[in-house]
Amino acid sequence: MFGLMQDRPLLISSIIEHAARHHGDSEIVSRTLEGPVHRYGYRDAHRRARQLANALTALGVQQGDRVATLAWNGYRHFELYFAVSGMGAVLHTINPRLFPEQIRWIAEHAQDRVLCFDACFLPLIEQLAPLLTSVQHFVVLADAVPESSKIKGLVAYEILLAAADSGFDWPQLDERTAASLCYTSGTTGNPKGVLYSHRSTLLHAYGIALPDTLNVSARDSVLPVVPMFHANAWGLAYAAPMVGAKLVLPGKDLDGASLHTLIEAEGVTVSAGVPTVWLGLLTHVARNGLSFSHMRRTVIGGAACPPAMLREFRDRHQCEVLHAWGMTETSPLGTGCTLKFKHLGLDQDTIEAVRLKQGRVPFGVDIKIVDDDGNELPWDGVRYGHLMVRGLWVIQRYFGADQDAVDADGWFATGDVATIDADGYLRITDRSKDVIKSGGEWISSVDLENLAMAYPQVREAACIGWPHPKWDERPLLVVVARDGELDKAGLLAFLAGQVAKWWVPDDVVVLDELPHTATGKLQKTRLRELLAGYRLPGT
Ligand code: AMP
Repeated sequence: MFGLMQDRPLLISSIIEHAARHHGDSEIVSRTLEGPVHRYGYRDAHRRARQLANALTALGVQQGDRVATLAWNGYRHFELYFAVSGMGAVLHTINPRLFPEQIRWIAEHAQDRVLCFDACFLPLIEQLAPLLTSVQHFVVLADAVPESSKIKGLVAYEILLAAADSGFDWPQLDERTAASLCYTSGTTGNPKGVLYSHRSTLLHAYGIALPDTLNVSARDSVLPVVPMFHANAWGLAYAAPMVGAKLVLPGKDLDGASLHTLIEAEGVTVSAGVPTVWLGLLTHVARNGLSFSHMRRTVIGGAACPPAMLREFRDRHQCEVLHAWGMTETSPLGTGCTLKFKHLGLDQDTIEAVRLKQGRVPFGVDIKIVDDDGNELPWDGVRYGHLMVRGLWVIQRYFGADQDAVDADGWFATGDVATIDADGYLRITDRSKDVIKSGGEWISSVDLENLAMAYPQVREAACIGWPHPKWDERPLLVVVARDGELDKAGLLAFLAGQVAKWWVPDDVVVLDELPHTATGKLQKTRLRELLAGYRLPGT
């Protein structure tokens, strides 16, 4: 017997329809490339998204076609999110920080039909355009086509929109229809496409808005510093209109000064980004004796949140850090770190130890850790193993692949190594390939990095396994000094006081900066290349 309730599909168009009807004047504020701040409400965004759907239809875009974007966080990108998926086409967000050759490869693999880009990427697109064989239309996200443009047939977004009617009936698609496509940054091998559905996107947006995950509501002013080309701005571009939150889109300037000004001017209450971004913001704020008037929560993910960062936000700014773990393949939120009732009233050190974990899953996601043979390991917070994940917004198969990316029971191997404690809290100890294997024992590079970053002279730290004739590998710590000075012996003594003796790195190398990937993660492969020829003391 079937239930007798309405069977309405979970569609992305329904999010913007809802936001326009019930939160029509909630603002979307964007810092534009042109300079001024642009502001309007969800009602206007919906109208323009419908105009855009008509304009794309006139260009010949059909359901299932890929429409690519190379753009920073801004209102036109937001309109593309809803128009493209809403009409049944697939929004393909490309990371402009990738190498041109990677962008070409991805656009070809996705067979993008239209490419929409911010005007600042014009030189890049001019270089790539002749190589993008599937792209039929190039659209610059601007009022007019720049006079200098050499791209044949280039059209301006605003001219397309001005000619388009605002009446558009969103099709009632099957909720499993593909909605958006995002490629993993892939430090090795070719990038892989993750193809989200309307259903997975809506369920994820519900999941991340919950108080126990990112906790966003109509009372918030939300700043996704995380780019809209990186796993859909962690879903915030959907969750904010779903709950009617004010949405603040920072454009291309993500330095500490630009972010602080925006946070203050727009009354931002919750922000989300990777640790490197917060490092820049906190440094700027500390140097200039600034504070945050309204920001009370910040979501940190994409890489481990260093304890020193959590403490600085908490103690200096009364801002709660929400540590979260996820990946492109998990839409991306897998876990978020909020407390349980049993934790309330515990002392600060115990609570801090919980908060530094990557957290627990919301309903809809499940996790487990396994040993090298696939046997499930106990949840004791100590044993670590390969992290597996499955759930309502977790990948089944990569775009264009001929077999599933999951095992027979639906578990996806994340490539992360983690512990899980008795309360279900996950703690990432490494990427499988970054674990340091010394004399057959595992050393967590992330733990050493976190400890090193609590040393006052250290601004950023990376720990890698370096070849050693006796132990196979030994930890080598590579750091950026905070003010150009570093007492290596002092740092090693500081670490020795906190970890087992055999965990203490064999040496410390100081660099001016550490290499990062296009999504802000430490790029350890590049670091190894930079240090080629280095030998550990005594080897
Ligand atoms: P991406 O698909 O580019 O978002 O990268 C996903 C990977 O980032 C994960 O598999 C983890 O290795 C890493 N990651 C994400 N969040 C965290 C976190 N909070 N702590 C440590 N690593 C993280």
